[in-house]
Amino acid sequence: MFECLYCHDALRIPVTYGCGHSVCSSHGLDVCPKNCDDQQPLLANHDVTLSKVISLLEEDEPTGRPWRNDEEQEEDCERGEGSRPPSRQRRERRTSSPKFPLADELTCQICYMLLFEPVTTQCQHTFCKPCLQRSLDHSPTCPLCRTALSPIAPSHPNAHLLELIRTKFEDQYISRSSTQTPSHRLDTPLFVCQLCFPGLPTFLHFFEPRYKLMLRRALESPHPQFGMVMRANDMDYGTMLDIRSVQILDDGRSLVETFGTYRFRIMERANLDGYTVARVERIDDIALDLHTQPPLASLVQHCLSFLNHLHANSTPWVVQRLSNSYGSPPPYETALQNAAAFSFYVAMILPIDEGEKAKLLPIRSVTMRLTMCVWWIEGLRKEWWFDRGCVIS
Ligand SMILES: [Zn+2]
Ligand SMILES: [Zn+2]
Ligand SMILES: [Zn+2]
Ligand SMILES: [Zn+2]
Repeated sequence: MFECLYCHDALRIPVTYGCGHSVCSSHGLDVCPKNCDDQQPLLANHDVTLSKVISLLEEDEPTGRPWRNDEEQEEDCERGEGSRPPSRQRRERRTSSPKFPLADELTCQICYMLLFEPVTTQCQHTFCKPCLQRSLDHSPTCPLCRTALSPIAPSHPNAHLLELIRTKFEDQYISRSSTQTPSHRLDTPLFVCQLCFPGLPTFLHFFEPRYKLMLRRALESPHPQFGMVMRANDMDYGTMLDIRSVQILDDGRSLVETFGTYRFRIMERANLDGYTVARVERIDDIALDLHTQPPLASLVQHCLSFLNHLHANSTPWVVQRLSNSYGSPPPYETALQNAAAFSFYVAMILPIDEGEKAKLLPIRSVTMRLTMCVWWIEGLRKEWWFDRGCVIS
């Protein structure tokens, strides 16, 4: 039987805190007696699932084993016990059968499967943590009772329920865990939003539920990153973004600071829970020898003098772009030393169509990319509004 953290007696009609610890509700404690972090006020007077489970265990009912593996189900068919092939429906029917009340109580009311990483809300309802978080992504309320909740699911599982599930339904819990991991081959999640380049920061807002899910999964990996592509289906190139910081706002949106690391080509793609995942191939520049690339210095000089001139004359769109996030134009030597990154910096600042700029993504030659930038600059100089709007000497 479960022990109360406070009276050290058998747990009776418990409440469960955000830390996953439970005590008898009769003690009237607002916070966990262990003074754990992440305390949120309780919004109901008892943990619904744990209370039911405790009374069921006291009745000492046979718990049964509601989820059988497919081999066993096939045996049933061969014996003629059931004429239908093994199916999910059948398993679900078994789960909710009155013969297995404990299994019934340990079923998530969102996915109707055995609770996985069970977390208990402030309103004392329990769901799989991934299920609850995905529900909160859509609306920060309890899926059962509609109580307003924090947009972030409790981080700690309900300790007693997890222990019980792992003891009584060990095999099923292990197989539940394996279905939670996305495919390993298509291991790059893609955010379809805007053009990004390596070497530059990008600030993003995550508010769509599918991308909040993608972001959470990316943050769980050892190296949090995702691919950015401008358009979903007709773009084969993108930029990998490292996640530098995440700020979660009260309304559940996330402000994410990223930094472009490398370009990639999409080799294969699929849909995972509403967003795109892909297998990508990294694109690197061909080796650059500064001494055998005489045009490089003049290309850098050309781009730099154009940007410096605009900056000095406070051309509104340049000042806005520079002050937003990309910083002032670098000194000539720095630009030449980092010509690869400089080519992307120049392109990002120029006021031309993003689809046009995206042509730089597959180009492996720095000289070629800077040549395109110079070509765009020459085009801009010829625009009628450019002469009027900016004073070019
Ligand atoms: Zn107690
Ligand atoms: Zn605690
Ligand atoms: Zn669930
Ligand atoms: Zn609730």
